[in-house]
Amino acid sequence: MDEFELIKKYFSPLEKLDNSTIVRNGDDAAVISVPEWKSIALSVDTLVEGIHFLPDTKPEVIGFRSAAVNLSDMAAMGAQPCYGLLSLVIPDNDEAWLRNFSLGLGECLDEYNCSLIGGDTARGPLAISLTMVGHVSGPPLTRAGAKIGDTILVSGTLGDASGALGILNKTPLDAEEKFLVERYERPLARISLSINLLGIANSAIDISDGLLADAGHIAAASDVGIDLLASSIPISPSLSSVYTEKEALEFALSGGDDYELMYTVPQDALVEAYAMAATEGIKLTKIGMVTEGSHVRCLSGENEDIILKTKGYKHF
Ligand code: ADP
Ligand code: MG
Repeated sequence: MDEFELIKKYFSPLEKLDNSTIVRNGDDAAVISVPEWKSIALSVDTLVEGIHFLPDTKPEVIGFRSAAVNLSDMAAMGAQPCYGLLSLVIPDNDEAWLRNFSLGLGECLDEYNCSLIGGDTARGPLAISLTMVGHVSGPPLTRAGAKIGDTILVSGTLGDASGALGILNKTPLDAEEKFLVERYERPLARISLSINLLGIANSAIDISDGLLADAGHIAAASDVGIDLLASSIPISPSLSSVYTEKEALEFALSGGDDYELMYTVPQDALVEAYAMAATEGIKLTKIGMVTEGSHVRCLSGENEDIILKTKGYKHF
């Protein structure tokens, strides 16, 4: 199977047929028409074998996650993602791998109604880079908008995906372990929640490197301090049942890969924020406050500092 057959068989079907695509996949570039868009949101994320996933990771998981991590960045801006461009570097044209990769990728893109309008394919060490294009209606959510006095909210539960890393290849998995593995393999992008929080939240970030590390990005960009309360960090019953309390908290504070969203919300908008989350069926938990300073601090129940260092993943 040559490069063009491969693209036609596995990736062209991930393009949606709608009127906004003027020149479709197969030409030198895709052309789209989006007259109603005010602001365009653009992001790219790359997954490299051995760095972002292990060589034995199932191709459908690599496919799903390569879209999910990108969509999560879109969510963090309050953007509605629409189009994707895939740069695929593969060592060979292994059809079973390509089929399952494209199935996982397609499933995630489809869940968020996104269309793969083009890409590039080359031979080399396995690496996947996806560019997403979307739009924001009004001022986007950013890392820089947090204000002193804001309440810090987080969606869902934290630490599940990093709790899964050590048991990905274990068989059989019990129900609790399965839940954790599912959280790693199929992270949710909180797109509609974030869009609903436009104009309500002052700032947002997706938690990809770990809560402490990503809270640090908000603190730096907004020039504020962040006080978190350890006992209020939402931890799933599954994570609590598989690990000790201390391990679960460590995963929740320092583990990445959950792609939950952290928002800071002013006091007078809190009720509205909780109501929005309730209509989405998503749990929003208060985990701390934005304060004066430039620190990220996590306090125990007794009000003593327990964790000050940030241990998020850094490439360099
Ligand atoms: P060019 O030689 O102009 O770079 P390509 O041969 O790379 O063109 O691509 C041909 C068409 O196939 C283009 O429309 C491109 O967007 C699409 N394409 C290439 N690789 C992929 C991919 N991995 N996923 C989706 N579309 C792809
Ligand atoms: Mg090309």
